[in-house]
Amino acid sequence: MLVKIRDGTDEGSLEAVCAKIRETGDLTPHIDRGVSHTIIRVIGEVNGRFQTLESQLGAMTGVEDVQRIGTKYKLSAKLHSDDKQVIDVGRGVKVGTEQELIVVAGPCSIESEEQLRTIARGVKESGATILRGGAFKPRTAPGMFEGLKEDGLKMLRDIGGELNMPTQTEVMSQFDVDLVARYADILQIGARNMQNYALLNDVGKIGKPVVLKRNPGASYEEWLMAADRLMHEGSSNVILCERGIKGIDQSFTRNTTDGASIPVVRSKSKLPTMWDSSHSVGKRDLIPNVALSGITLGADVQHLEVHNDPPNALTDGAQSLDLREFDLLMQKMRIVHAARRQCEALELDLATS
Ligand code: PEP
Ligand code: MN
Repeated sequence: MLVKIRDGTDEGSLEAVCAKIRETGDLTPHIDRGVSHTIIRVIGEVNGRFQTLESQLGAMTGVEDVQRIGTKYKLSAKLHSDDKQVIDVGRGVKVGTEQELIVVAGPCSIESEEQLRTIARGVKESGATILRGGAFKPRTAPGMFEGLKEDGLKMLRDIGGELNMPTQTEVMSQFDVDLVARYADILQIGARNMQNYALLNDVGKIGKPVVLKRNPGASYEEWLMAADRLMHEGSSNVILCERGIKGIDQSFTRNTTDGASIPVVRSKSKLPTMWDSSHSVGKRDLIPNVALSGITLGADVQHLEVHNDPPNALTDGAQSLDLREFDLLMQKMRIVHAARRQCEALELDLATS
């Protein structure tokens, strides 16, 4: 259920509506102060009580309208055409405004201070906005490099600070949430953990921006419901990252790129989106064109793994661009991003004419 609040309603009246919702004992109000409207999203099963609640709440000061939300995901749902979440990820970077080209880049794994600094300086010089690097690595086989853990987190924090770049890194376990949150600006939930609800609960409580990667076997609805779980716990700042799904043929690509997911999620959810072409295709030569397609699809952030020496990377070398390749791709991405903005302007002209 959603309760639309009239413009100019005072805080006391807004709180009275929330109190009335809480009185039910099992429904929770979430105030959503959007750019154009304030809405209360009500979480919990309304079922046979809708008409009663509609008339009780509808009679209260400040309530403009009461409606059902017809989806299972309620906090991440898009409720009107300009319902879009803008997320401040730190150091002046805002995700979701659809104005700038925002690129998160860096190595799959942080391997040493020197490696991270070389890559970070390179991607920054080419125009990347956010620095990524894994300190806790989910590895399929035992005995492989699992990351530098807290030492890696310190390197990420320090080098992000030196270059004034917000940082993004994966938190794999519930036990490491506080540790990772101390060092990073954006917490990444990996694809393998998308439905690890204990982890989602703890990460949500931190309230920091979260990148929620789609599990390769998850439907759009499951992905959005995982986002709702984070938001219900307190994080309103979730970015949905498409990183490839399980398809029928993985002989030439690591995963199957789901090109529809960005437009689908943009139409169903208010949350910003991220396009991870590196994990999606998994092959360096295929990445540039797939990355460019992410911009035309409308993803808010482009995600790329970059390494100064891909053949010797400890993880994901086959899908890491070298610094020269990344620089060339950044130039192409700027061109495509400008073209996308021109296309959007045409749509806007049509809508207002
Ligand atoms: C990563 O970003 O390095 C990573 C492990 O991603 P995913 O969870 O999408 O496999
Ligand atoms: Mn990786």
